[in-house]
Amino acid sequence: MTIKEIDKEYIANTYARFPLCLVSGKGSLVKDDEGKEYIDLGTGIAVNTFGYSDDLWIGAINEQLNCLQHTSNLYYSEPCAKLARMLCERTGMKKVFFSNSGAEANECAIKVARKYGELNKGAEYTTIITLKDSFHGRTLTTLAATGQDVFHKDFLPLTDGFVYAEPNNLEDVKSLLKENKCCAVMFEVVQGEGGVRALDADFLTGLEELAKQEDILLVADEVQCGNGRSGELYAYMNYGITPDVVSTAKGLAGGLPLGATLLGEKVKDVLGAGMHGSTFGGNPICSAAALNVLSRIDDKLLADVKKKSRYIFDELNGSKGIISVSGLGLMIGIETERPAAEIIEECRNNGVLVIKAKQKIRLLPALNIETELLEKAVKIIKEACAG
Ligand SMILES: *Cc1c(COP(=O)(O)O)cnc(C)c1O
Repeated sequence: MTIKEIDKEYIANTYARFPLCLVSGKGSLVKDDEGKEYIDLGTGIAVNTFGYSDDLWIGAINEQLNCLQHTSNLYYSEPCAKLARMLCERTGMKKVFFSNSGAEANECAIKVARKYGELNKGAEYTTIITLKDSFHGRTLTTLAATGQDVFHKDFLPLTDGFVYAEPNNLEDVKSLLKENKCCAVMFEVVQGEGGVRALDADFLTGLEELAKQEDILLVADEVQCGNGRSGELYAYMNYGITPDVVSTAKGLAGGLPLGATLLGEKVKDVLGAGMHGSTFGGNPICSAAALNVLSRIDDKLLADVKKKSRYIFDELNGSKGIISVSGLGLMIGIETERPAAEIIEECRNNGVLVIKAKQKIRLLPALNIETELLEKAVKIIKEACAG
């Protein structure tokens, strides 16, 4: 049997895969099982921050592999302690809870928000406002947080206590705040799965103001837009706002599973011993990988992300067959005249891997993609869009 046949036979039917079996890669190039090479602008959905099999990243992992691979959270361990310190020093947040995925990072954020509501406002203040078109994960609670009915319908009843506001509509948030006993508002600074949309600056600063007035938490889901992708370390930093809770995962460890929930001053002590946990959370290998990734997301790299972003926007805006270009940094959505699926296929045939978000083409290149490869890929995308 071929790999595709074994996969179809034995793996649950939850994924509609592209007809491609990837076997090896280096940087922004990846090869399939027929030896064909592609420029990858998907990075495993914003995960491979420095592309495939990056040498420095492998070095950091190998070093840790030769010490120990796992301790459990019953013991102290250096990599996760140092990673937590680095995350706090670079964000101004005060404490970190580590998990293994974006959904879990958000579960922790939701638990913190509910506990904060109970402690500071009263036991009935449990409702969290999220946004329509958001995506917060696949657990039953993070599905409930996700403001898209298509994700809800198969698994009712979901966790109670979420209401959904129109993105960029502060009045909508205000009326939900009046109608419900709320403890938090949670949002992606750049909506990813919902169509690569950066929220308006006015809306975000308005949310921050409202959160202060109403004593509710400002929770930023930076699972996809975080870790340098927006051109700042975390996307909220583009807007000068200060969330109380920041969740992240995807690109944090550059290709190993790691989630982190960063807790600001107001909530740093909301969780106590025994209230939350994760067997693998803060695993030494994943933490060592993340220390490597984070330490390399410096001002120089971020300036480069912004420069590459401008290049892509300039090339694609107004190009034939392209209706609009959205997003921030190296998280870009392209609305096209032709169906996205056709363009994705054509790009693939011409050696470029891109992915979808709703009806848009989504680009999430490695932060260190070589200019030459980026230029080549953009040219192929433009040609495909032009039809
Ligand atoms: C991918 C994603 C999640 C879920 O992350 P998993 O690691 O798949 O659990 C949550 N929020 C956002 C914004 C995401 O893009």
